[in-house]
Amino acid sequence: MITTELSNVGEIIQNQREFFKTGKTKDVTFRIEQLKTLKQAIIEHEQAIVEALQADLHKPEVETYITEISVVKEIDYVIKHLQNWSKPKKASVSWDFFSYSARIYPEPLGVVLIIGPWNYPFQLIISPLIGAIAAGNCAILKPSEIASHTSDIVAKIIAKHFDPAYIAVVEGGVEASQKLLAEKFDHIFFTGGTAVGKIIMAAAAKHLTPVTLELGGKSPCIVDTDINLEHTVRRITWGKFINSGQTCIAPDYLLVNKKIKKDLIDGLAKSLKEFYGDNPIDSPDYARIISQKHFERLVNFLKDGEVIIGGENQPSERYIAPTVIDHVSLEDPVMQEEIFGPILPIIEYTDIAEAIALINSRPKPLALYLFSQDKNLQKRVLQETSSGGVCINDTVMQVGVSSLPFGGVGDSGIGNYHGKASFDTFSHKKSVLQNSFWLDLKWRYAPYQGKLPIIKKLLG
Ligand code: NAD
Repeated sequence: MITTELSNVGEIIQNQREFFKTGKTKDVTFRIEQLKTLKQAIIEHEQAIVEALQADLHKPEVETYITEISVVKEIDYVIKHLQNWSKPKKASVSWDFFSYSARIYPEPLGVVLIIGPWNYPFQLIISPLIGAIAAGNCAILKPSEIASHTSDIVAKIIAKHFDPAYIAVVEGGVEASQKLLAEKFDHIFFTGGTAVGKIIMAAAAKHLTPVTLELGGKSPCIVDTDINLEHTVRRITWGKFINSGQTCIAPDYLLVNKKIKKDLIDGLAKSLKEFYGDNPIDSPDYARIISQKHFERLVNFLKDGEVIIGGENQPSERYIAPTVIDHVSLEDPVMQEEIFGPILPIIEYTDIAEAIALINSRPKPLALYLFSQDKNLQKRVLQETSSGGVCINDTVMQVGVSSLPFGGVGDSGIGNYHGKASFDTFSHKKSVLQNSFWLDLKWRYAPYQGKLPIIKKLLG
């Protein structure tokens, strides 16, 4: 194993603390150099990354480029803005503070821990790392053990290009995570399921460590009648079935206006054929389920409702065909748990109020999708629902916009990142107030006798 043995976890954190104390990471030029090194390292290992994802998830090369290696775009964006973000920012003061000046200094937090999931196992460990480096921190990465090939390549890349006293990888599963969580960090950035998110937060609370929790949930996709049907079905098909549905912001289920339901189902069948052919199992463009455990969990969902498209599966390959299910009940397991696989239930509504009420009766989702050109309907859905983010007339693409903070709300997460939001997540904003010596008004000093009227006037 290239990476730290578990018994050395304490030592590596100590080394990182020493490295942080040298002040090296406070230099913005140093941070930019490290980001450039990271970018070069990714480019240099592109082929190995593609192969690792192929081995873990049968991920098509194109999807690996679009959804994993594309983090290099984020590096360029951060490098472009970093000098500006790192500068102290002037803050305004009210007239009664006329002799003062106020500024906000972003400063690094120290040594941070980043724990990743298996579904986009490269991007979801490297993208937070970009923020950690940009903000001037040292970092320990714990990739998901379930995407083991990707975990290995992440460990190799980091060990080859970075000093472990600055950035290190600890590989392993729950045991490794728990060993790390027993230590004190200055921030923990976790991406994974809601249940494990609670464990992370409880462990962090013991050290009063702040957390960012990028969690999951059931992201609804509303489809109204005022749409371009052809574009809609293609965009839903792509967002749902990319990575075989194992995407935290995939549309989990459809809420479809009854009037357009039949056309939508016909359209989905057509676009699925267009994407993956008559036998998706033979398509080089269709991923597999990550593990036997997840395969079995998903196959159980096929008992719910009525399968109207797909439903075929092959345990030896961990293959489940792109599947659409109709006539599900809200009590069925498929409508209770996050699906996180290539199964798409359809629920119909006659009035948008029903769809909104259903969404609001459940935990706040990570993403909400709405297909409609009706401006009033768009406004209503935005006003009457709450979710981590919203994408109108498309799916999943919101994750690729660096100027949009990405994160959940309520059960779907705490905090956000990407672009400037990543820099902010891994920075402390230090408020600095400065007075001058040219004047010293005595209204706030004891003895207070006779000063109350002035104070009331000042505060009034
Ligand atoms: P998971 O919560 O099972 O595991 C995530 C990480 O936590 C892994 O590195 C794992 O080793 C570690 N872990 C697991 N159990 C642990 C425990 N008991 N104590 C400490 N650490 C533990 O998540 P997963 O199965 O890898 O990913 C799927 C989930 O992640 C889905 O719910 C999905 O929606 C969510 N997700 C969210 C985002 C986002 O950006 N919000 C992105 C991808 C995935």
